Amino acid sequence: MDELLIDFSSGPGKFISLKEADVLYDKGSDYMIQVDDDLFFAAMNDEDLENEDFINHSCEPNCGIRGSLQVVARRDIQPGEEITFDYAMTESSDYSMPCKCRREYCRRIITGNDWKNEKLQQKYAGYFSEYLNKKIFQDILQKLENSFGIARNDRRLQPGQDWSAVSITHKTVGSGLPRLRCGAVGWRRKLSITSRQAQS
Ligand SMILES: [Zn+2]
Repeated sequence: MDELLIDFSSGPGKFISLKEADVLYDKGSDYMIQVDDDLFFAAMNDEDLENEDFINHSCEPNCGIRGSLQVVARRDIQPGEEITFDYAMTESSDYSMPCKCRREYCRRIITGNDWKNEKLQQKYAGYFSEYLNKKIFQDILQKLENSFGIARNDRRLQPGQDWSAVSITHKTVGSGLPRLRCGAVGWRRKLSITSRQAQS
């Protein structure tokens, strides 16, 4: 688990803006990985291309992302098995593509909004690109605010941890103040919420 398989940062390529990425994409070259809202790491020409750039999307991938540019194993991988990750782990730009991975949970259409899918957020906790982890955490804080009226500057939400990944469990949405539990499993963080009623 979590074995490093590919490190794009050690290979050729260039950091480019969304605008530059669009130009490249329109030319038919989409060997790039999104690393922030307006930042992509891309192979700019054929010389930049490596085998690693052909890594495919799967809706049931054997790999995930560490940091922004590293691909790590989510489970044991057999010799000859294709290396895949889910583009939901890195992409948030305005794009969509059909998927024919034929896995049981295939989403058929992959879009730049897939990282917002709560099921995927839980499934891939710890395997999203760093900038998406941050977005997901902001998302969760927003939901806490909406559901429980907990302000995002509430000190219970400030464990002084590096929130590399957060997943959330709504066990009940009671009328009482929910109890927050923050814990760390390795470098993955888990924030689970249960209401006081659920505790008693
Ligand atoms: Zn699929």
